[in-house]
Amino acid sequence: MKTVKADVLIVGASMASSAAAKRLVDAGLEVVALERRTLPREKVCSGILSPRGHRFLVENFGPLPDETLHEPKSCRGVTFHFPSMISIPMDFTGGPTPHLYRKYSDHWAITRSGVIVHDNTTFTGLEDTGRYINVRARREGAEVLYTVRFVIGADGPKSAVTKALYPGYRKGIPWFMVGQKFQKIIECPLDSDYFHFWFHPGLGHYTWSHERNNQQIVGVGFPSGGNLHKAHANVERYLEEKHGVRLEPAERLEGLAQNFGPSLINRYVFGKGNVLITGQAAGFFNMLAEGMSCALHSGAIAGESISEAVRRNRPVQEIYRALIASEVKRCTDQWNPLRIIFGNPHEADFKASFGKLSRKEKLTVIRELADFLKIYAPYRWGRQILSQSLVRMLTGEYSSGRWL
Ligand SMILES: Cc1cc2nc3c(=O)[nH]c(=O)nc-3n(C[C@H](O)[C@H](O)[C@H](O)COP(=O)(O)OP(=O)(O)OC[C@H]3O[C@@H](n4cnc5c(N)ncnc54)[C@H](O)[C@@H]3O)c2cc1C
Repeated sequence: MKTVKADVLIVGASMASSAAAKRLVDAGLEVVALERRTLPREKVCSGILSPRGHRFLVENFGPLPDETLHEPKSCRGVTFHFPSMISIPMDFTGGPTPHLYRKYSDHWAITRSGVIVHDNTTFTGLEDTGRYINVRARREGAEVLYTVRFVIGADGPKSAVTKALYPGYRKGIPWFMVGQKFQKIIECPLDSDYFHFWFHPGLGHYTWSHERNNQQIVGVGFPSGGNLHKAHANVERYLEEKHGVRLEPAERLEGLAQNFGPSLINRYVFGKGNVLITGQAAGFFNMLAEGMSCALHSGAIAGESISEAVRRNRPVQEIYRALIASEVKRCTDQWNPLRIIFGNPHEADFKASFGKLSRKEKLTVIRELADFLKIYAPYRWGRQILSQSLVRMLTGEYSSGRWL
C-alpha cells in the first residue's frame, strides 16, 4: 500500500482548510488536504458573508469570481423580527457583502490556496507517535495511508479528527438540527436585501429566511430529535399570516446537525500534540450562525502556528493556544452580554438601530428577547456566559483553562 508523505495533512477542503493551507503553502511547507466529497461539493449554508470574512477572502484569495455567488449577489445586512411585529433592519458596517454559493466559493478558495487536494478521501483515524503522525483514510473502498508531521482537523461540526483525539466529546455537547426548504415565491414582502431572523420562542431556536435565486429559503433550527417538517410548516404558516409571505410547496430540503454552543461558553477544542483542531470543528460559531469568518481566521491561525513551530522549533500547541486567543475573543465577545451592552462586537450596529425605537418599543423588544432566551434555559449556559464575561472584563482574556 502506498504511503503519502507530507509536512502537514489538513482534513476538510472548506473555509478553515483553505485559510490554513494558504498560510502553510506560502511558508513553503508540503501540504495535502483530504476531502471526503467529490469537489466542487455542495454545502448547506445561507452563504451570508460577514464584512470580516469578505475582507479575508479578498485579501488572501483575490476578487470573488461571479460563479461563486448566488442571486441576489449581495446582502445589505440583517433584519431582526419580534413577536410584537417590531422589525429592526441593520446594515453591515462597511456596506453589502457577497452572497456566496458555497459549492463554488469553497472550491475557488481551496484551489487559490495552492494546496494539493485529495478528494473522495475520508479521514478515518490517526496515531501520533510523537515524531510523526500516521493517518488512515479511505478512498473508493481502499485504505490510504499518510505519514506527516502535523495534522489540522478542519472537518466541520461532526469532526472525525476531534473524535479520534477525544472519543467521548460528541456525546458531551448539545446538538441542534437546522433545516432549510427552498420554495418558489408567489409573494414576499420581506426585503430581499436582508437576511431575516426571528426572535420568537413559538417558532424555534433559530428561525430565518432570505431570498436565493428567485426562491425563498425558510429555515428552522431546534434541538436534535425534533421534527423538521412540523417545525417548518409552523414557520411557513406564521410568515404567511404575519408577513404576507406566500410560497409554493418546497422543491428541495437540506439539513444538518450543528455543534452550536462551545463558542458561547468558551469551551473550544484545539487538539493535542501535533494535531490542531480549527474552524467549526473547534467550536467557532459567531452570532446568527455566521461561521465562515471565524473558520477562515482560525484556520489561518492554525496554519501560522505550524509554520512558526517549525521555524522556531517550539511545541505547536503552545503557539496555537497563544495565537488563537485573539479569535476566541472575536467570537465569544459576540455572545458576551457585557461586550454587547458596553462595546460593539458585531458587524452590524444593533445598538444604533435599537436607539431609533420609541421607549415603549425598546421595552417590548427587551421583554421579548428575554422570553426568547428562556428556550435555551435547559442548556444551563447563562451562568457560564456570565462568569466568562466577568473573567473577560477583569483580565482582558477568556480563560484558556476551559479549552480542550
Ligand atoms: C443551514 C446553515 C446555514 C448557515 N449559514 C451561514 C451563513 O449564512 N454565513 C456563515 O458565515 N455561516 C453560515 N453557516 C455556518 C457555516 O457554514 C460553517 O460555520 C462554516 O462552513 C464552517 O467552516 P469549516 O471550514 O470550519 O467547516 P465546514 O465548512 O463544515 O467544512 C468541513 C469540510 O470537511 C469535510 N469533511 C468532514 N469530515 C471529513 C472526513 N472524515 N474526511 C475528509 N473530509 C471531511 C466536509 O465534507 C467539508 O467539506 C451556516 C450553517 C448551516 C448549517
